[in-house]
Amino acid sequence: MKHLRKYIALLLALVMTFAFAACSKTGTDSDGKDSAEPYSRDIFAMDTYMKVSAYGDAGEDAVDAAVKEIDRLDALLSTGKEDSEVSALNKNGGGDLSADTDALLSKALDLYEATGHAFDITIYPVMKLWGFTDQNYQVPSEEALAAALAKVDAGALDYDADAKTVSFPDGAAIDFGGIAKGYTSDRVAKIFRDAGVTSGLVNLGGNVQTVGLKPDGTEWKIGIQDPEDEDGMLGVVTTHDAAVITSGGYERFFEEDGVTYHHIIDPATGYPADSGLVSVTIVSEDGALADGLSTSFFIMGKDKAAAYWKTHKKDFQFVLCETDGTLIVSDGLKDRFTPTDETAAIEYIK
Ligand code: ADP
Ligand code: MG
Repeated sequence: MKHLRKYIALLLALVMTFAFAACSKTGTDSDGKDSAEPYSRDIFAMDTYMKVSAYGDAGEDAVDAAVKEIDRLDALLSTGKEDSEVSALNKNGGGDLSADTDALLSKALDLYEATGHAFDITIYPVMKLWGFTDQNYQVPSEEALAAALAKVDAGALDYDADAKTVSFPDGAAIDFGGIAKGYTSDRVAKIFRDAGVTSGLVNLGGNVQTVGLKPDGTEWKIGIQDPEDEDGMLGVVTTHDAAVITSGGYERFFEEDGVTYHHIIDPATGYPADSGLVSVTIVSEDGALADGLSTSFFIMGKDKAAAYWKTHKKDFQFVLCETDGTLIVSDGLKDRFTPTDETAAIEYIK
């Protein structure tokens, strides 16, 4: 995991540098603090290096509240923490849901249906078998994989939205890892707005949420990691008040006998998704949706992703990167996405 951490730290530095590169001095706050200087804090939570930044007078308190909220959600949602709510649900085969796990479960089940079952939070037993949950990586036997896969079916969870309870079939277990960071960045954005912050940036390991415009009144420029080059960028998305969330097989993986196995599992096979995409970026006002869809599209591949977008155009936009480097970009980003390589092949989806 050392490699991964270094990687995430680099990614973080990259996005932040880029996001702030064009900052210019725009005057001073009432206390004389340069408003182009954000209040920022770095934290490590959800197995990820994170940075939370807010500009202006309300910034300091808002950033403190944001860090508390991230720690609270980490303690609630982490499958790796025995006393988390998710661990208790997994151990007890369900139970009462808090407001957060209720919101997450409801969203996750909607995505399960909407993505043709590509997004399935009951993938946890399979994640565990591959060793992605404790870094005891191994390629499972066909028998073990079949047994774990038999437990995977979000449709079999007995969720009562009114009572806010859920009950699992025997052996089933859930993991909000594909959606938790986007949900968390939504919560932080809300804390910022409620606190009166009009300009802020939440970077949860390369999953970025922008609040308002930059302090100089221009839009944020968010870099997308190049999946092939840890120091490079695929391109830049120009945006405001939106989450820019990327999933890629390069984020967490291991190698065995020259084959790379990554952490986004296709529930149809139990193997790491192999859809011809190397990265998926979703831009949306809804961070949880962006996170869930970035994971889902990585599994679904270009054609299913494009078809999905055509029926949900108003909710989000996307940038896909194919194995050969071709970029597939939804029409709404035509003037908002700039590839680093000007000669890159780009296909726009209308
Ligand atoms: P990251 O968390 O690395 O930014 P993602 O948002 O793509 O990347 O989420 C990957 C995580 O999602 C995995 O670590 C696992 O917890 C979970 N996951 C893996 N496969 C699936 C799936 N098919 N459906 C839902 N969640 C998944
Ligand atoms: Mg995701």
